Amino acid sequence: MSGQNLIYLDNNATTKVDGRVLEKMLPYLKEEYANPSSMYDFSKKSSNAIKESRAIIRDFVNAKDEKEIIFTSCGSESANTAIRGVLNFNKSKKHIITTKVEHPCVLNLYKALEKQGYRVDYIGVNSNGELNLDELEEAVSEDTALVSVMWANNETGVINPIKKVSEIIKTKNPETKLFVDAVQVAGKIPIDVQENGIDLLGISGHKFHAPKGIGALYVNSKTMITPLIIGGHQERGKRAGTENTPYIVAMGEAAKLAQDGLEYELTEVKRLRDKLEKNIINKIYNARLNTGGANRVPNTTNIGFEYIEGELILLHLSDIGICASSGSACTSGSLEPSHVLRAMNVPFTAIHGSIRWSLSRFTTEKEIDYVIEKLPQIIEKVTSISPYQKELQSLKDLRNMKQS
Ligand code: PLP
Repeated sequence: MSGQNLIYLDNNATTKVDGRVLEKMLPYLKEEYANPSSMYDFSKKSSNAIKESRAIIRDFVNAKDEKEIIFTSCGSESANTAIRGVLNFNKSKKHIITTKVEHPCVLNLYKALEKQGYRVDYIGVNSNGELNLDELEEAVSEDTALVSVMWANNETGVINPIKKVSEIIKTKNPETKLFVDAVQVAGKIPIDVQENGIDLLGISGHKFHAPKGIGALYVNSKTMITPLIIGGHQERGKRAGTENTPYIVAMGEAAKLAQDGLEYELTEVKRLRDKLEKNIINKIYNARLNTGGANRVPNTTNIGFEYIEGELILLHLSDIGICASSGSACTSGSLEPSHVLRAMNVPFTAIHGSIRWSLSRFTTEKEIDYVIEKLPQIIEKVTSISPYQKELQSLKDLRNMKQS
C-alpha cells in the first residue's frame, strides 16, 4: 500500500516530505550541483542557499548568531556530536546526567560512555511521564560535565520544563552544559534557546516534513566542542564533509513552513488529536490514557489497551490502511516493552497494549473519524481472544458502574 492511500498516524517516527520542500530542493539535485566551497561563480548559488538556510534555522531556534548552527545528517548525529563534543573538549569531568526516557541515540551513547569510565545518573519520571526535578537537582555536582534532557518524549509527547531544568542546573553548577534533544518539538511548539538557557540543541529534518538524512545542532558561542567528524574545514571545522546542499535547503524550507504553521499545529492538529483521544477513551472500556494530565506536544497521544497485545492491534489497523506505532520506531519490532512506559510504571496489563498515535498538519478530520469508527471493532476482535476474560469483564463492570 503506498503512502498516498494510507491514514498515516506515525508522524513521530517520520513525516511525509512537503511538496513545497521538494520543489525547493530539486534544483540542487539537478543543475545546481556545485560544491559550495569551490571558488568559481557556479558554486555561489549553492553557498548562498546554505547561508540562507542557516539563517532560517538560527531564527527557528532563536539563536543569536548563525555561526552557532552546524548542519548534521540526523538527530542521532546531532546528539552524538553534542555529547561527545562537550566531554572530549574537557576530559577532566566524568559525571553526566540524563533521564530514563531519552531516545536510544542518547541512552545507548551513555551506556557506551559508562564503559569508558563515565558516571551517569538516570533521572526518573512519574506515572504521567513528568521529570522528577528534585532528583535532578540532587544529582548535579561539581563534577557534572553535562546534563541532557529531551524537550519532548517521542513515545508520549510529554514536554519537559526546559527553562526550569536549565535554572536548576546552572544554579548548582554554572559550568555544567545542557544538551536538549529537541527532535520531537520542532514544528510543534516554539523553540527558543536563549529564553530557555540551552547550551546545545539538536533537531532532525525528517520529523518536520524535510527528507531523512539532514539535521542541525545549535552550539552556543560560549560552549566549546571537539568535533566528531574530522576532515575538511566545513561547518567552521565542527563537522567535516562536503555540505549536503539539497537537504540543507530542504530543511531550511521545512523550518520556515513549520514556523509559519505553529499556530495551526497548536490549534487544529491539537483539536484532532484531542478528538481522537476522547473518543477512544470514551468508547473503549479497556482504554487508558498513559500520560494523565501531563503537558504534551499537540500531535501525540499514547493510549494503553488493557489485557491485549499492541502488535495485534497494529496488524489489524495496517490491514485497513492505518499506520500507528507501539513504542518508538526503534523499539517496536522487538518484544521488549517500551523503556519509557516502564519508567512511568504503566501497569503491566496495559504496557503491551499501548499504542502511540502521532498526527501532522496533513492529518484530516475524515481520517480521524474513520479511525474512531473502525478502532472499537478491532479492539473488540482482539479482546475476544485475550486469555484475561475475567479481568476484562471486571473492567467493563467498573466502567458501567462509573457511567451509571
Ligand atoms: N531524538 C528523538 C526524541 C527522536 O524521536 C529521534 C527519532 O525518532 C531521534 C532523536 C533520532 O533522530 P534521527 O532519526 O534523525 O537520527
